[in-house]
Amino acid sequence: MIYFDNNDTTPLHPDVLEAMLPYFKDRFANPSSLHSLGLDADTAVDEARGSIAEAINADPKELIFTSGATESNNLAILGSAQTRPSRRHLIISAIEHTSVLNVAKRLEKEGYRVTRLPVDGQGYINPDALSNAIDDDTFIVSIVHGNHEIGVIQDLKVLSEIAHEKGAWFHTDAAQSLGKIPFNVTELGIDLASFNAHKLHGPKGIGGLYYGNKTRPKRLMEGAPQEHDMRPGTENVPGIIGFAEAVKIAVRDQAENTVYLKTLISRLAEGLSEIPHTLLNGPPPEERLPGNLNVTMLYIEGEAILMHLSMREICVSSGSACSSKSLTPSSVLTSIGLIHEEAHGAIRFSLSRFNTIDEVETVITKTKEVVELLRSMTAFVPELHSERMGAKSFYRKR
Ligand SMILES: *Cc1c(COP(=O)(O)O)cnc(C)c1O
Repeated sequence: MIYFDNNDTTPLHPDVLEAMLPYFKDRFANPSSLHSLGLDADTAVDEARGSIAEAINADPKELIFTSGATESNNLAILGSAQTRPSRRHLIISAIEHTSVLNVAKRLEKEGYRVTRLPVDGQGYINPDALSNAIDDDTFIVSIVHGNHEIGVIQDLKVLSEIAHEKGAWFHTDAAQSLGKIPFNVTELGIDLASFNAHKLHGPKGIGGLYYGNKTRPKRLMEGAPQEHDMRPGTENVPGIIGFAEAVKIAVRDQAENTVYLKTLISRLAEGLSEIPHTLLNGPPPEERLPGNLNVTMLYIEGEAILMHLSMREICVSSGSACSSKSLTPSSVLTSIGLIHEEAHGAIRFSLSRFNTIDEVETVITKTKEVVELLRSMTAFVPELHSERMGAKSFYRKR
């Protein structure tokens, strides 16, 4: 099986599993218990918190564990709205993860004003658009750091500065960037940031929220005072230990992984660009999140390519995983200007350190084969189609 769907979730790193195992066995205690076993678990959680905080240049007092990036996004935005009730305006981008998009929809229903910043043809936000949208009523600006579909990376330093000029808090969804590219809350001017472990070879169901000393969202659930009194419930100790180990390994190997993945992705891009009528979605490979590539093979359904690759033991994703069961095309892809037909033909290849160049070669060969097969089955008239879709080249304009 060739797994090229690492922006959806990743396999556990073997060392992460090893680090977690004792906490499923002898070291199973509740960190809130006062006996020695409880203290042992509590110390382990403290160490994990300290090590992740250090990786993002934060204080351990500013980091809590949650069930993942979805929960962190909810807590960051809904909780901040409650801390700052006098401000009633929210700014997000058009290419946020569903969890942020739907939190914005909820606040809109409750009477908040919501601005969704447009992006250019490669997925970048124009800072001027933020300057024009923001005012004294904006309580938070929430912008995804690395996009899960097209791998575009936003310049958070510039965007957070604009937010701060108007006294807005700056939140980022860093689920795809943590461990893959440098992420330093001080350097980037971040007030709140959401993470999870399962995008960087850690376990599912565990994540974190960073918040600054002066930018503390109100908790959304009531219970015992765990997690700095912000997120009640007995801690997921094995998950927390696994998360910290995954971050440690990812940060340690970041430079090496980046170089390695660049080689794989540039070969994949080169191979796929040889398929006629194929367009790259998002920025050029060297600007993207390491390991991410997204292309549209015109005149066929992405879903059909996915199924045929799956039959050949290759796992990829069409559009976004969350919308893969619906017929509306990915809003990320339509936001960068793809028409429905183009968005429906999109396939995302997302690689990790555990993939190889041999796998890349196999995927190129099999994708060519599948595209040829599917196009031979449709009423495909290249001349006619080329005219309708315009003369497009592989690389997109901004
Ligand atoms: C995966 C993902 C999420 C959701 O994370 P969960 O931990 O699965 O809740 C949020 N944002 C981005 C950018 C993601 O890639």
